[in-house]
Amino acid sequence: MKHNLHFLLLIFFLGCAGKDPGPEPRSRDEIMREMANLPALYLTKDGSNREAAGGQACFVDEASGELFWMALECKNPKCPAKVESGKSHIFIMPDPGVFVNEKGKLDFDSEMEEQALRKGGFLGCQKCIPLRQKQMLWSGRGAETQAEKNQYAKYVAPHVLPETKKREGELEKEMVARVAWEKENAP
Ligand SMILES: [Zn+2]
Repeated sequence: MKHNLHFLLLIFFLGCAGKDPGPEPRSRDEIMREMANLPALYLTKDGSNREAAGGQACFVDEASGELFWMALECKNPKCPAKVESGKSHIFIMPDPGVFVNEKGKLDFDSEMEEQALRKGGFLGCQKCIPLRQKQMLWSGRGAETQAEKNQYAKYVAPHVLPETKKREGELEKEMVARVAWEKENAP
């Protein structure tokens, strides 16, 4: 008897709700996993390029032994490359201590890194260097302030492939829908 009552209540509830809740949307983890693995652009020092899962600073191509670095771009609206071509300059900033060893694996040499850091120079977009030199001359200091260095560091952002940008937008919407579904279906 009790069982039948439940059954009737269920029919009543479905009748009132009216709409089919549909299949369960993908979980947050699944969406996050796809987001983390969307393709990104990687470049070698020689200018070879490759698309691979995003989120890696660098990787070694097993076949060629080449070291690929995540492609970056300059967001400075006054970047000479941007002013000239209308397109952001795409480049890499390899860690000077990272290299590929005889076994074809990533390796690290802190001495090499320290040496490069001691040498100094401009970190960031190489196309922006003339602007920075002009600024140094104009200020009469002959060097950049930490704030100026930080500003140019902030202009450096990962380069996002157009199809990855589009997919990211879709996944963000999917995530919003998933969160709303969880609220609706909370026990
Ligand atoms: Zn630049």
